[in-house]
Amino acid sequence: MNVYDGDKIKTALVSRGWKETPENEADVVILNGCSIRDKAEQKVWSDLGRFAVRWEKERKPVVAVTGCVAQNVGRRMAARFPWVRFISGPRHIGAVPDGLERLLAGESHSGPTGRTEKLFFLDDDPRAFLELPGAPTERVNPWRAFVTIAHGCDNFCSYCIVPYVRGRFVSRSPAEILEEIRMLVADGVIEITLLGQNVNSYGSDFSNGYSFSSLLSEAACTGVRLLRFVTSHPRDFTPDIIEIMAEHGDVICPSINLPVQSGSDRILRMMNRGYTMDHYRSVVSLIRERLPEAGLTTDLIVGHPGETEEDFQHSLDALKEFRFDLVHSAAYSPREGTGAASRNDQVVREVKMERLNEVNRLQSLITREINEGLVGRTFRILLDDVAPRGEGLLQGRTHSDKVVLVEGKEDLLGRFAIVEITGGENWCLAGRILEIGK
Ligand code: SAH
Ligand code: SF4
Repeated sequence: MNVYDGDKIKTALVSRGWKETPENEADVVILNGCSIRDKAEQKVWSDLGRFAVRWEKERKPVVAVTGCVAQNVGRRMAARFPWVRFISGPRHIGAVPDGLERLLAGESHSGPTGRTEKLFFLDDDPRAFLELPGAPTERVNPWRAFVTIAHGCDNFCSYCIVPYVRGRFVSRSPAEILEEIRMLVADGVIEITLLGQNVNSYGSDFSNGYSFSSLLSEAACTGVRLLRFVTSHPRDFTPDIIEIMAEHGDVICPSINLPVQSGSDRILRMMNRGYTMDHYRSVVSLIRERLPEAGLTTDLIVGHPGETEEDFQHSLDALKEFRFDLVHSAAYSPREGTGAASRNDQVVREVKMERLNEVNRLQSLITREINEGLVGRTFRILLDDVAPRGEGLLQGRTHSDKVVLVEGKEDLLGRFAIVEITGGENWCLAGRILEIGK
């Protein structure tokens, strides 16, 4: 979601004549950050400290903090660092280009050491939203793109700050989304990921019955070659979605992130998740039955307030039962203002860390077993990037969203390849190219 917002901001600025430069030469640096957990927030705080030396000498760069971290603690950041001159929450993304230009115009009047005026684009109205129109044509990746289909979230899970910082759930209109997808396809995009905090409830704020499965089936016919979506919610993942995925199996990739968050019904109730493990089980059974090749990943929090050893064992049992391809695990991180943060039965840090390690140990065994079981299989993948480490390697992903690393020259990027899997590791597969396709 932040990559998408970042690409949109960049697209708007470039279209106004702005240029991207190395950070140490920039007049303006934009930090688009996240506040979902303390760790993400701390990263922005420490990035901000870096600008002190250059600021002392040159009164540059002016730093803008955007995204949900800005909504949450932007004022505090601006109060602490003089170079933080611009704050905009994610609901005011549309204010960023004009706002930055106003700020720079103000600066040039008063000289490099002059004014201390700071611009804030924050709003306490959770329904406010100022869009930045148009498709993100300046992208981190030329072949892959994201499209947000709904803003915000109304679920108020006990631990989660999203409804406070990203505001109420609002679906974008299907026409706008489909137009954006077509523009991206015309711009050379091959794979699109539809984004939302809870994509499955897309359309629940419309009165005409248009739903997520309606959008999926229309999006699959736009000419996009690969379509993915994230994140699903177990309560709202209805059978019609699975049917549309099966019907358009050539375009809609069978990769599903279905965050379970806990394996204990007692904790799920406390979390306000709106489903039981029995319900979760029934959704997974239907997925496995109708989409046998589906990759299934999950998110899991350990150490939510009140989580006992028994509750935690239920989470481990869930990992053994569902054998996810990948688990995004996290130790519970109290977020100021959320329901769970004010509970007086917090789990101590050491216990949370022990539980997190245990989850990761168990899951890496499971992931490795699954991945090793794929050796010898062939898949068609889009070669979409160079591998993050290891020279000469390219990467792509299977339909089920497993990363595959292959040897190949960079001119193959943007092409499909038939690959044979030669090895399975923890976070990726190794493969070799059998054939290059279109
Ligand atoms: N909308 C998605 C997830 C959004 S946040 C959903 O409903 O599942 C992404 C992930 O961050 C969550 O799935 C959760 O596992 C984790 N997360 C959110 N708040 C957290 C917190 N306070 N502490 C630890 N992990 C958290
Ligand atoms: Fe947060 Fe829950 Fe909404 Fe996901 S569904 S964004 S976890 S409140």
